[in-house]
Amino acid sequence: MSQSAESPESSSAREPASPPGRGVILRTPIPGPAAQRIVERDRQFLMTTTKTSPVVAASGSGVWITDVDGNRLLDFASGVAVQAVGYSHPEVVRAIRDQAGRLTHFAGTDFYYEPQVRLAEKLVQLTPGTFPKKVFFTNSGTESAEAALKLVRWNRQRPIIVGLLGAFHGRTMGALTMTTSKPVQRARYAPFVGGGMHIPAPNCYRCPYKLQYPSCDLYCAKILKELYFQTSIPPDDVAAFMAEPVMGEGGYVVPPDGWFRAIKTILDEYGIPLIDDEVQSGVGRTGRWFAIEHHGVVPDIVTMAKALGGGLPMGAVVLPSSFDYPVQGSHSNTFGGNLLASVASMATLDVIEKEQLLDNARVQGDYLLERLRELQSRHSEIGDVRGIGLMTATEFVTDPTTKEPAIAFRDRVVEESYRRGLILLPCGRSTIRYVPPLIVRREEIDEAMEILDAAIRAARARE
Ligand code: PLP
Repeated sequence: MSQSAESPESSSAREPASPPGRGVILRTPIPGPAAQRIVERDRQFLMTTTKTSPVVAASGSGVWITDVDGNRLLDFASGVAVQAVGYSHPEVVRAIRDQAGRLTHFAGTDFYYEPQVRLAEKLVQLTPGTFPKKVFFTNSGTESAEAALKLVRWNRQRPIIVGLLGAFHGRTMGALTMTTSKPVQRARYAPFVGGGMHIPAPNCYRCPYKLQYPSCDLYCAKILKELYFQTSIPPDDVAAFMAEPVMGEGGYVVPPDGWFRAIKTILDEYGIPLIDDEVQSGVGRTGRWFAIEHHGVVPDIVTMAKALGGGLPMGAVVLPSSFDYPVQGSHSNTFGGNLLASVASMATLDVIEKEQLLDNARVQGDYLLERLRELQSRHSEIGDVRGIGLMTATEFVTDPTTKEPAIAFRDRVVEESYRRGLILLPCGRSTIRYVPPLIVRREEIDEAMEILDAAIRAARARE
């Protein structure tokens, strides 16, 4: 490990790391008796959503969750890529506590508070592009998508939004119009909001055109102009193009180098703005503040949520000032930029800077990818290993040549992992994502990889 690899860790405010292989403590099977009772009550009283594993958390610290049966579990899901600075970071907790004792809510959209303004100034500074920008605060990723979609429709008065097949932008009706990551998310909800159109996403592991990068010459970008703009999508009717810089729920698919630049060149030619959905990839996850920075393009609008709030519901849209509404009342909400969420966000951004977590995400992300590739060399079920920074994934296949998705196998690996104390989340059809908090240490990655290795063997033994 290089010097720079170690410095972010040594500045961390965390408790000492557990010895390798000794961090996970299992006192009961997962789920234990207390967890089982809660899962049963949950099934009775909560609407069905997207539950994946019967893990019932009682508390969290760093990359560790203690469940209601006293088991200590290693968390490589981060509450769906939310807990960037780790669970219960003292500075985030302090900021929330201090603010909670003074004032929690006064409606920042109708009146004023300073923490919200300070956070907006910071986001204007951190997002790519030096043009004048403004911020609208939301409560979630889907609400950020809605706000961005309304903004471009209001400003440009054109009916079409172009997105990618496989994208995930949220589940409210406007966002869902652009979400195409799984049929179950859309089934029985049509008709959607008018104007949503999609082109195939760049995906070199499963190229929709069966071409090879780089000899394909980025046909998956050029096709927007060469085919779609000549047939089904009149470019003058397009209000915006919306994409994730790394496709998240759709399977952690990283576009090939040059794809975003090629798309942006086409969009610029027609004056079409780019909405960059950083809800999952933003706020340091990939080792840069925003993942689009890896692609070398400057988006017009950036949407974010998840990690921004440090565990509280918080989202934001950063827009060109020229897109701001000229009149009051065209768009607003009640809780956007809530005081607790604003101070938690600001503390999160401060911690990322102070503890050099962008560096740590890059260094540990490279190490995690290396360890996953090592596992791939020993387990033929791992068809692909991919990611940027700490936004990493493995795609499972029944056969590396046919690349048939190994969906049941992937599900068994998730199950065998939590049984051994490692919390993971699936995505895509047969992929597992590895998104530990950005504070993760090398020895925690080692422990996770040991458990994953054992889980893959156990999943195979169950076939
Ligand atoms: N956009 C992206 C890229 C996401 O990954 C998600 C959620 O996973 C959303 C939007 C929706 O966010 P939320 O679940 O907070 O509505």
